Amino acid sequence: MPADLLKSVFGHDAFRAGQQEIVEAVTQGRDVLAIMPTGGGKSLCFQLPALARGGVTLVVSPLIALMRDQVAALRAIGVCAGALTSGNTEEETEEVFQALDAGRLKLLYVAPERLGNIGTRRLLSRVGVSFIAVDEAHCVSQWGHDFRPDYLRIGELRAALDVPLAAFTATADPETQTEIIARLFPEQAPDVFLQGFDRPNIHLAFAPKNGPRQQVLKFAASRKGQSGIVYCGTRSKCETLAQALCEAGHGAIFYHAGMDAEERRIAERRFQLEDGLIVVATVAFGMGIDKPDIRFVVHADLPKSIESYYQEIGRAGRDGAPAETLTLYGADDIRLRRGQIDEGQAPADRKDADHGRLNALLGLAEARRCRRRVLLRYFGDETEACGNCDLCDRPPKLFDGTQHVRMALSAILRTGEYFGAGHLIDILRGTDTPKVRERGHGDLPTYGVGKDYSKGEWQAVFRQMMGYDLVRPDMERFGALRMTDAARPILRDEAKIELRQDTIVKAPRRVAVKT
Ligand code: ADP
Ligand code: ZN
Repeated sequence: MPADLLKSVFGHDAFRAGQQEIVEAVTQGRDVLAIMPTGGGKSLCFQLPALARGGVTLVVSPLIALMRDQVAALRAIGVCAGALTSGNTEEETEEVFQALDAGRLKLLYVAPERLGNIGTRRLLSRVGVSFIAVDEAHCVSQWGHDFRPDYLRIGELRAALDVPLAAFTATADPETQTEIIARLFPEQAPDVFLQGFDRPNIHLAFAPKNGPRQQVLKFAASRKGQSGIVYCGTRSKCETLAQALCEAGHGAIFYHAGMDAEERRIAERRFQLEDGLIVVATVAFGMGIDKPDIRFVVHADLPKSIESYYQEIGRAGRDGAPAETLTLYGADDIRLRRGQIDEGQAPADRKDADHGRLNALLGLAEARRCRRRVLLRYFGDETEACGNCDLCDRPPKLFDGTQHVRMALSAILRTGEYFGAGHLIDILRGTDTPKVRERGHGDLPTYGVGKDYSKGEWQAVFRQMMGYDLVRPDMERFGALRMTDAARPILRDEAKIELRQDTIVKAPRRVAVKT
């Protein structure tokens, strides 16, 4: 029966990997936690059982845009679905109530903030909910990267309604999984379905930041006419980069949270409907987008964690055809991301976890061999070298960087872990600056020991050291670098470290600026 619905309602000829087992378990009324890669086809795994089972399926989803899109898509294929969100007009809400009263509604999407509402609770207890589907279930985890306090109410709701629950997420780290289970299935463990995380059609590549605007323009130049997303860290960068892409002859628009809701909706629609448009966006963009033919995702600034990276690149190539990604990273990105974690309100152990996720991403950025292996290993999948990443295409040259690292650590320790990379590099290179003179650093034994290497080379060494978490910027001391325990064996000459030669780039050539 489910297989018939797959074709007759959803128009698909076959299940995708993993879908059938999940659909069957959910249809049979079992509790399910399904972990599937982005684009793997999660929604079908609760939408199809919703039709196969009687009654109303309650869907909890974190974003209004996401709910609207799914409801619209369901209605378009003739399935009666509705949403209760703060974005509803009165007529929309009235329509939902009528469909519920008439027993016609099959799927009811509810925003998590509505779950605590008494009216909603009463409504749900009398409409005959047959099971609860929780989309983006990692939002229930305080350790996850996207915690939504309202998700904590799902547990009570489920207990009150006493129906099965199916939870879906694309986030795989084991701590988050454990927490999802503890919060959503406190009494009995669910059936867990873990799909492989590989998206083999997505090409992976990273590059050190070296004139990012030019790098993005160059990447886009050979991909004219393709749809793509370029993620930027700030609103103003989104706007200037979109402008630069337009001037280079691309169709490009920008998108960020500083735009009003209407402008954002127009931008989303354009991207969804027009061919070959590039959207330059902050991470505010993407969750609600179901565009299967996005051919590339570029990060002009480093994402905040390995999970965010995976989720954001996962928006490319949902149709299964080849897609490309490029992520730019530099020491400034690392400093910024560390600072955001340190300055946040989270408790200390949570901050450590966030540093860990950032470290995992930096480890991926400076990976020495197949990038996909490093990425998938983080999510618990072991694979062979993929042949579809920049490091498989061109294995990087490595060199024994132990001496470089020891020199840098020595400069850090001899100056009391009190300075940032810029001043430390001046010391290492023996550059005579006012600050060096003022502090008497010209007398240090480390002064000038690294003069054979350029400033750019030293920056790359420091960046890799941050990437391997040998040093961390201390935000209370304006980014002063402190040594971590991981660096001790190298300092004591008990361990060696290999660095990548190719990420050690020359400083960008200065281009004359118009005044
Ligand atoms: P996600 O897992 O990221 O939530 P979606 O549920 O949005 O993914 O599905 C991604 C895309 O895959 C959608 O365009 C959907 O229509 C399509 N899809 C899902 N299942 C199948 C299938 N069995 N056959 C073909 N296309 C499918
Ligand atoms: Zn590879």
